Amino acid sequence: MNTNMKRILRGALAVALGASLVGCGSSSSSSSSSSGEKTYVIATDKTYAPFEMTNKKGKLIGIDMDLIRAIAKDQKFKVKINSLGFDAACTALESGEADGVIAGMTITDERKQKYDFSKQYYKTGVSMAVAKNSKIKSYSDLKGKTVVAKTSTAGLSFAQSIHKKYGFKIRVVEESSLMFQTVKSGEAVACFEDTPVLKYMIGQGQLDFKMPTKSENPSYYGFAVSKGKNKTLLSKFNKGLANLKKSGEYKKILAKYE
Ligand code: GLN
Repeated sequence: MNTNMKRILRGALAVALGASLVGCGSSSSSSSSSSGEKTYVIATDKTYAPFEMTNKKGKLIGIDMDLIRAIAKDQKFKVKINSLGFDAACTALESGEADGVIAGMTITDERKQKYDFSKQYYKTGVSMAVAKNSKIKSYSDLKGKTVVAKTSTAGLSFAQSIHKKYGFKIRVVEESSLMFQTVKSGEAVACFEDTPVLKYMIGQGQLDFKMPTKSENPSYYGFAVSKGKNKTLLSKFNKGLANLKKSGEYKKILAKYE
């Protein structure tokens, strides 16, 4: 090996070492790789179809997963995705363990106090779902019964906003899968969940449920970062999203999960 080559190798080693030190020592969760691309830690929900789910090969797929990866590619950064569950993803963002959250997360005024949101990327709302053979047709039929919702979600907030008026109890669980199970087993007569999630699951034959009432609280999903703390990542997300919309890739991603 000639001296020139040695010098190049030594340089590369120093860069790699420097990068790993930045990764460990910094208080923020993001780090830089030797390719110079920053790696952001992105927290997400566990199964929240069609936004995040695992395919047969164990790969994380879904609208959110495809979007964040395509945006990262477009904006030249890397992502490390942590499937934590919805509430845990928000906690990770607040503690600085995650740089951003993409988790079918509804943009709300309350959340805007804590987080900065990207441009909206998907329309949503909350619906009540009941077992297919259920006799429940309206919120009034819930009187004296128990419903189930998932902790920290828009579905839970909606249920809480009407439970006194209609006289029902609310059980709170951690995961959407457990919420659906609670309705299937009859421990709860209904659940409150995002309309696109219910539509997808019912449409795919993954849930033998129906939605007897209309979708409530029209709202949108956004990508979230800690308030005032990650303007760079937020603007990369927005730029990437705009580019994907322009190129038609955004539409293609949505079409994959219809
Ligand atoms: N969209 C709902 C919310 O933001 C639920 C999100 C989720 O469960 N992943 O509250």
